[in-house]
Amino acid sequence: KNDMLDQWDRDYFFHPSTHLAQFARGEAPNRIVTGGKGCHIEDRDGNRLLDAFAGLYCVNVGYGRPEIAEAIAEQARELSYYHAYVGHGTEASITLAKMILERAPDGMSKVYFGLGGSDANETNVKLVWYYNNILGRPEKKKIISRWRGYHGSGLMTGSLTGLELFHRKFDLPLSQVIHTEAPYYYRRPDLNMSEEAFTAWCAAELEQLIEREGPDTIAAFIGEPVLGTGGIVPPPAGYWEAIQPILKKHDILLIADEVVTGFGRLGSMTGSDHYGLTPDIMTIAKGLTSAYAPLSGSIVGDRVWQVLEQGTDELGPIGHGWTYSAHPIGAAAGIANLQLIDELGLVENAGTTGAHFRKAMAEAIGAHAHVGDIRGEGMMCAVEFVKDRDTRRFFDASEKVGARVTEALLAEGVIGRSMPQGDILGFAPPLCLTPAEAEEIAGKTAKAVAKVLG
Ligand code: PLP
Repeated sequence: KNDMLDQWDRDYFFHPSTHLAQFARGEAPNRIVTGGKGCHIEDRDGNRLLDAFAGLYCVNVGYGRPEIAEAIAEQARELSYYHAYVGHGTEASITLAKMILERAPDGMSKVYFGLGGSDANETNVKLVWYYNNILGRPEKKKIISRWRGYHGSGLMTGSLTGLELFHRKFDLPLSQVIHTEAPYYYRRPDLNMSEEAFTAWCAAELEQLIEREGPDTIAAFIGEPVLGTGGIVPPPAGYWEAIQPILKKHDILLIADEVVTGFGRLGSMTGSDHYGLTPDIMTIAKGLTSAYAPLSGSIVGDRVWQVLEQGTDELGPIGHGWTYSAHPIGAAAGIANLQLIDELGLVENAGTTGAHFRKAMAEAIGAHAHVGDIRGEGMMCAVEFVKDRDTRRFFDASEKVGARVTEALLAEGVIGRSMPQGDILGFAPPLCLTPAEAEEIAGKTAKAVAKVLG
């Protein structure tokens, strides 16, 4: 054990998404993680914690899978790296592209590999612009995303992200990005609105935004099948059925951001399958390798591909690439990971154990006076705390209710996540969660809620 590690952490390490001033004062939690197996991680102080957020909803097959570790080691021994520029590839990256397309919705054509969800979404916006430039309509450029959407934290992707925290002091959003309403039924504008009426309202808001801005100026709409970081919010009934025809009517491409929902999390192979989406481009990351190595992808649909392909004779090579695009070690991890998901039946387990998990959660805390909503889909679940259930009034932000419940849950040995906007406790466990572990999380959540809220 290196006794200097805590000191070095404070002295040298810049933690992402961390309250820097609190960290400097020694007030923010710090944890040095040393191991993981199944749904549990261990830290340097000897704590064993049930990780009910799968890292950052990415360790879908669970920690410590030797099959993936061995695939990575074998690839590193055989060929640690070669690039994918000007027609190069490796056995692993080409094989994985084929495996991804076998699992993607119909009409998808090619995979462009990146490293993480943010860079994949940056790629997507560039591809959409390139596509419209080839088609001779450079003014069709704006991208619509939703408030509460999360699409990354680059300059463009941080702009697409519809959470104020990710714009603050960065001069974002960029001018090409516009936001429409979140399909967040619990927070509908009028409590008397039915789910169907709310869906119609979201669709009308979108249509009005498009009309206001001018359809000829709008290139694409990006959305997560289920809002993730913005509060784990499944769409109201009929939402995607209402949105897709509007996009079609105005010739606006659909980018399905499946960074969280791809490869099983909703109990379907993709969120697009789950909700009947036909995306033009799909973003994948996290569950592609279960985070055993960084890898992401932009899956490009036929319609876009056919235009990109035409353009290149005239334009020359596409001027977009990363050194690590299609990194063979990431690809080897991806192959082993997708095989494991199939062999272990994890897509099915995400559906069945996920439903059991939400039911257990509802039984454990559903009647509590400050639990306003328990929602989710597949292996995703959110608990929203409110001051008053009837009016859905928020707690004062200074009370930090969501963060305090999350902390109390951690003291019980379970990692949940306090979502960035509102008092929302989020769960997205590995897809291999067992029913007993689901019940343990629910039981410990009840204890944490009782401790903080009585
Ligand atoms: N898109 C979605 C839906 C995400 O949830 C995330 C990350 O949480 C991203 C994109 C960004 O991915 P990354 O953090 O790998 O850049």
